[in-house]
Order: sequence, then structure tokens, then C-alpha cells
Amino acid sequence: MNNNKKRVLVTGGAGFLGSHLCEKLLEKGEEVICVDNLYTGSKKKIQHLFANENFEFIRHDITFPLFLEVDEIYNLACPASPIHYQYDPVQTLKTSVHGAINMLGLAKRVNAKIFQASTSEVYGDPEVHPQKEEYWGKVNPIGPRSCYDEGKRCAETLFFDYHRQHNVDIRVARIFNTYGPQMNINDGRVVSNFIVQALENQDITIYGNGSQTRSFCYVSDLINGIIHFMNSNLKDFKGPLNLGNSKELTILELAEKIIKTTNSNSKIIFKDLPEDDPKQRQPDVSLAEKNINWNPTIDLKEGLSHTIEYFSDILNKV
Ligand code: NAD
Ligand code: UDP
Repeated sequence: MNNNKKRVLVTGGAGFLGSHLCEKLLEKGEEVICVDNLYTGSKKKIQHLFANENFEFIRHDITFPLFLEVDEIYNLACPASPIHYQYDPVQTLKTSVHGAINMLGLAKRVNAKIFQASTSEVYGDPEVHPQKEEYWGKVNPIGPRSCYDEGKRCAETLFFDYHRQHNVDIRVARIFNTYGPQMNINDGRVVSNFIVQALENQDITIYGNGSQTRSFCYVSDLINGIIHFMNSNLKDFKGPLNLGNSKELTILELAEKIIKTTNSNSKIIFKDLPEDDPKQRQPDVSLAEKNINWNPTIDLKEGLSHTIEYFSDILNKV
């Protein structure tokens, strides 16, 4: 029995990252309350956790207030894939802004520590490369990605103001592109799209000419980083903290790697580049290394092979 068991709220806990986080927290012996409105998440991702007596699920939209007695809050609720966050941009903004106000209000009321899943998108289409936390970013305030980027930027502001004004104990991490098992087949982000297309021998859809870069982090590394950061006790350091893998590659290189690894007959086709698509992205993770002694350990080859195995399994069951 774990006598120091904490009661932990995970918003967005039925999503890709949230489901891994709930699982890891339960493994550590915590009590976990997963709150999710199932917009992009699903009960399938957490069905293996229902048998655990330390796990509870509440279907709730965090744009509405919620009262629970908890020790810690991980605020992950928000659609993260461009196609999903652009489908209902007003709701995306409400989730980031009203959701943050509701969760920060709860943290203040019950004196809980609170983590915010921010994003590399706060850097927009960056002019500084790689991106360090001190860079303020280049973000279009009125474009199709703004509902997500500006919503997340506003959430960061709210977190730091609740910290300064109300002394709420916060942690703000800027998560860079993360992939792995438990992503939806129709997630729409690049790794899952390319793997599903390759496994089905369909055309691989590169947006633009494929010269844009990203740096991909495997999910288990990211979850370790999040938990490590939440448990860190650096008095004057609450973030923002970059979490991601700094190995950068072009989207064309990613497509070629996935075709090769899956032994696929797929052909690459080129489609229009979406508006404001960032041209380059690579985290500088030296602050995470220094402050929480964290570094990713799973390289792209290994991470892709786990992810390909996961998608092969679910495609065979469909
Ligand atoms: P996801 O879409 O799989 O998960 C988001 C979850 O939040 C889903 O389960 C969804 O149903 C839920 N949700 C959305 N709106 C909600 C609301 N109003 N109330 C309650 N639940 C709501 O995405 P993900 O990749 O797991 O991302 C999780 C968090 O991490 C997001 O906040 C995202 O912005 C952040 N993030 C993720 C990445 C990444 O690469 N995966 C990168 C940067 C930031
Ligand atoms: N992308 C692509 N084909 C796809 C999906 C995405 O070429 O089927 C590109 C997209 O335009 C972007 C990169 O891959 O340049 C990463 O996209 P994703 O949506 O995964 O995340 P982002 O980093 O843009 O939020």
C-alpha cells in the first residue's frame, strides 16, 4: 500500500498523451481521476484502466467549472491535431482559455499543484532555431492556427499570473511533436497519417515540398519528462520548459523512413502546404537537462517500430 498516495486529476486523460499519463500515474500508485469530454479522446484508450480501483473517469467539458478534492492537476485537455483544433476554433480557444481559468481556479481553491501542457506552437513559425524557452515566438494572431497557438499562449499567461497573484504552484511545459501508440487512425498528424497510409499502400500525402522540419519525441520519453517536471522542486523554476526530442528531420525524410520500415509500395504525392505551417522546429532541451536531469532515450527508429506495430495491430482488427 502506498501511504503517500496522491489524488491526481488528469484533464484530457482519454486522449493520446493523457491515456499514457493516467497509466503511468497508476503504476506509481497514485489515485487518478480522468476528466475528458471525449472530443478526440475515447473510452477505448483507457478501458484497460477501468479495472484498477484507483482509477475513475468523469465525462466533462473543462470549459465549465468543476469541483474536486485533488492534490495535483495535469491539464492536457485540448485537441492537438491541426485538423481537429481547426474544426471548431471557438471551442478550441474556450478549452485553452476558459479551461485554464477553471482548472487554475480549482487549483487555487484546493491548493493543488498544476501542470499545463503547452506547446512548441507558442513559437509559431520561428525565426530562432533551435527554439529556446526565452524566444517569444512569431505567431499570426488571426490565422487558421491562431485558435490553438494564441489559446495556448493565453493559457501560459494565466498560469504565470495565477502563480504571481495567487501563489498557485504551477509547472508549464512546451511539448514538441510527440508520437506513439494510442494515436487515433484519423488523428491527422503526420506520423500517424504516414504510417497508416504506408501500411495500407496508399499514397503518402506530403504537404508542401517536404522540406519543412520537425523533431519527433516518443511518447514514453515525454511522459517521463512531464512527471519528472511535476515532481521537481526548484523553488524559482516553474517553466516554461521545452520537452521534446532534438533530433530534427525533414518531412520528406520522415516519409521515406516510414515507407522503408514498413516495406510499403506507397508513392509520395505532394499537396498544398497549409497556411502558416511552420518551416522548421527543433527544441533546445538544455534547460530540461539542467533543471530536471531529463533527456529523451528512445530514437526515431525504435519509436517508429513500436508505433508501426500498434497501427498494424489495430488496422488488422478494423
Ligand atoms: P488528443 O487530441 O489525443 O487529446 C486531447 C484530449 O483532450 C482528448 O481526449 C479530448 O477529448 C480532450 N478534450 C478536448 N477538449 C476538451 C474539453 N473542453 N474538456 C475536456 N476534455 C477535452 O491530443 P494529445 O496529443 O494527447 O495532446 C494532449 C495535450 O498535449 C494537449 O493539450 C496538446 O495541446 C498538448 N500537446 C501535445 C503535443 C503532441 O505532439 N502530442 C504537442 C504539443 C502539445
Ligand atoms: N504533414 C504532411 N502530411 C500529412 C500531415 C502533416 O506533410 O499528412 C506535415 C504538416 O504540413 C507539417 C508537418 O507534417 O508540416 C507536421 O504536421 P502535424 O500536423 O503532425 O503537426 P504540426 O507540427 O504541424 O502541428
